[in-house]
Amino acid sequence: MTNSLLLLGEALFYFGSMAVLFRLRRAIGIGVFMCAVGVMHFLETYLASTFYVELPFGMVSPGSAVLFSGKLVMLLLLYMKEDARTVRQPIYGLLFGNTLMIGLVLLLRLHEVAPLPSGQVADIGFVDQMGWLMVWGTTLLYIDAILIILLYEKLGHHLGRFRFARILASVAAILTFDQVGFFAALHFVAGAPLEVFFGGWAAKMAAAAVYSALLCAYLRVFEKRYEARPREIADVFHALTYRERYEALVEQAGRDSLTGLLHRGRFEDIGRERVARARDEGRPLSLLIVDADHFKSINDRYGHAEGDRVLKMVADELRRAVETDDQVFRIGGEEFAVLSPYPHAVARLLAENIRERIRFAGITPNLSVSIGIASLDERPGGLAALFALADERLYAAKAAGRDRVVGQAPAGTSPADEAGASRPEANRA
Ligand code: GH3
Ligand code: MG
Ligand code: MG
Repeated sequence: MTNSLLLLGEALFYFGSMAVLFRLRRAIGIGVFMCAVGVMHFLETYLASTFYVELPFGMVSPGSAVLFSGKLVMLLLLYMKEDARTVRQPIYGLLFGNTLMIGLVLLLRLHEVAPLPSGQVADIGFVDQMGWLMVWGTTLLYIDAILIILLYEKLGHHLGRFRFARILASVAAILTFDQVGFFAALHFVAGAPLEVFFGGWAAKMAAAAVYSALLCAYLRVFEKRYEARPREIADVFHALTYRERYEALVEQAGRDSLTGLLHRGRFEDIGRERVARARDEGRPLSLLIVDADHFKSINDRYGHAEGDRVLKMVADELRRAVETDDQVFRIGGEEFAVLSPYPHAVARLLAENIRERIRFAGITPNLSVSIGIASLDERPGGLAALFALADERLYAAKAAGRDRVVGQAPAGTSPADEAGASRPEANRA
């Protein structure tokens, strides 16, 4: 009886402490929670191989049952509130760490050990045994984690509204599976007798009930902001890569589907923010507007599909010319913008580089671009003012015969003078 109460106390202590770490994850980082999970793994394995406790009805259980069950529940919590990718992190860490331990023990064995004053001798053989049990335990834990996520999702379709039942059924089923696997190892490595299998299983089932209740209470009180709806699971991969796919989706949003570049809406947001930041911090910023020359004739001559392919290649050249992907935008059909964190003279070199790249990339016979540049230090105001100036210079480049870059005119001349022509309003559609 005392033993049962003690085990209950351990479960409450363990769950309470870990829940606090989990609850504080936004403030202190999820790594704290994960390290604690990892450290407890060592204690669990130690208890599993050396510490049995007596239970009611003459049963005997490895002392690890309560802590191990708690860990599985923690992984389920991690999945419910974060995702499968996050669950993988502690498990891979444990697998790696435990394997590393075995490797290091192989080296430690080679030492000539100095005697301790007390006459005590290190039991390397014990560490050996622990190491293998830990690796086996973690391998099982890896399978447990996948299975519990899948089962939890599957049960969502039938028990979606009964959270306690859904959690309890998932935890109990996986703990049963784990008990079979871990007992097998315990039996061969540490000679555990069969009563230990049933005792351990009974203890795990009791722990499953207690932890499921605690988890429900925790979710209800502390994490009610977001209730997960059951997700469809087509296959293991689908369920386990939820976060990757979500991130890919977020990454795609705001991107033009043809070229993969950020689109006009993003240009407005990002541009405004960068202009404001550069002004605040007194840093340079230049805007290039790049427009394909006589693009209509490419469509006319080769067809629209070929026109699309050409646009993709132009976008690729632009991407290659700049440092990071978030500087290039497709702001119109065959019109692109580049936000470059450099002063005018450098931006001009970049523009020339872009013009030549496209001219000589052999994309289509004679495809060229015209580019207008404006820099922050030339003109007060925000993104709109910068854009107007760059656009004005783009007109000038077109008017001067295309295939050229127009930027700030040398002192005493106007941009149009520099380009060698006046601005023909009617030249653009
Ligand atoms: P300019 O040298 O004066 O810029 O001549 P242009 O023909 O490039 O000028 P304009 O801006 O009048 O024409 C742009 C053309 O680009 C119009 C349209 O047919 C074509 N275009 C716009 N978006 C797309 C697209 O997504 N795919 C294809 N294939 N063509 C496009
Ligand atoms: Mg054009
Ligand atoms: Mg155009």
